Amino acid sequence: MSSPSLPTRRIADFSLDGRIALVTGAGRGIGFSIARGFAEAGATVIINDVNPAAAQAASDVLCADGYKAEPQAFDVTDHPAGAAAIDTIVARHGKLDILMNNAGILIRKPVETHDMSDWDKVIAINLTSLYALAREATRHMRKAGYGRIINTASLMGISSRPGVISYVAAKHGVVGITRALAAELGAYGITVNAIGPGYIETEINKATLADGRFHKQVVDRTPLARWASPDELAGPAVFLASAAAGFVSGHVLMVDGGMSATL
Ligand code: NDP
Repeated sequence: MSSPSLPTRRIADFSLDGRIALVTGAGRGIGFSIARGFAEAGATVIINDVNPAAAQAASDVLCADGYKAEPQAFDVTDHPAGAAAIDTIVARHGKLDILMNNAGILIRKPVETHDMSDWDKVIAINLTSLYALAREATRHMRKAGYGRIINTASLMGISSRPGVISYVAAKHGVVGITRALAAELGAYGITVNAIGPGYIETEINKATLADGRFHKQVVDRTPLARWASPDELAGPAVFLASAAAGFVSGHVLMVDGGMSATL
């Protein structure tokens, strides 16, 4: 007797088979983990980083593991380069389904020394680039009548702490852009959401990870009583990119071990 074939997934479809995804700042850290998650779910992943060697190396790692990945290095603040990269992706693959705006930096300085060049740099990378890339991506997504934009926000997008003013301003802006784009683009079949990481063990936190007192404070304030690995952002991002999240838009999915629930 032949075994019955499995039914097609209808209500829990987390597959990204056939999807084309661009992930910015994916040479390492959270971006790389999300790129791997997308690839594991079946997508072809375009790995962006400002550093060409990092983009190539991350792409090589995924390809060596049998996934579909390719590098596309550019500085996310170089808007013509971002537009050209998106055009190249669409020319090569016929579409861009998923834009994961993840690249970001953090400058830790008190207001007195947090000068305008610090401010401009953080806003350009963490905020303005998201809008520029979303504009370019949605030129194609609108025509396709489908798209997923996911932005990396932060706990600092819904709260604050001293010493990171430009980062807090940028991440609050990321939440605003996410909501505004969701409101405007839903009519074209495009969903726009954000993930909001709490404290994750990556390069961006090198200084704070080395500060034992701060490290413990984070542990003490986090209901799950630990920092997270960047890999723990992959599942939430895959969910938001998948058919399972088809009616989720304008949402910030906090991935913070419960810390925001205690604010
Ligand atoms: P990392 O510093 O490990 O990774 C950031 C990546 O972005 C690097 O690969 C970096 O490249 C790249 N990048 C920096 N500037 C640019 C640019 N101009 N153009 C293209 N790529 C660029 O940090 P995380 O992985 O932790 O951070 C990823 C995102 O997550 C950021 O948006 C961050 O704000 C956010 N986040 C992180 C949290 C955490 O606790 N780690 C908490 C909340 C949010 P290069 O290697 O060349 O520097």
